[in-house]
Amino acid sequence: MAGEPQDDCLFCKIVAGHIPATIVRETETTVAFQDINPQAPTHVLVIPRVHYGDIASLAVAEPAVAADLLHEAGEVAVQEKLESYRVVFNTGSGAGQTVWHAHAHVLGGRGLQWPPG
Ligand code: C5P
Repeated sequence: MAGEPQDDCLFCKIVAGHIPATIVRETETTVAFQDINPQAPTHVLVIPRVHYGDIASLAVAEPAVAADLLHEAGEVAVQEKLESYRVVFNTGSGAGQTVWHAHAHVLGGRGLQWPPG
């Protein structure tokens, strides 16, 4: 069923505590943890506890949780004392998405080029 945990989903396993992660923030609806392969001095992923394959699917099905995700991305930036940062949703394999559970990358702590590669 939509939103239910998936047995084969890495991020559902992190939400359930079955795979370790360095968690930096948690709310009723979201979990934020350090990316294991950081692309910047600060690189935190914010994920919903519910399972949807990408941010667009989450936003359609559970817009309040999508709003929570954006709110938490901003809270991560405050907590990490980032003056400038980028929030990224890679969507689709052509854009670099590799994990099919919606997630926001919060990147900061260095200069960020525009446009991104
Ligand atoms: O946008 P994309 O789907 O590629 O992002 C997935 C992210 O999940 C990657 O940045 C990867 O380093 C991260 N990851 C993680 N912990 C894992 C597996 C992947 O932080 N156990």
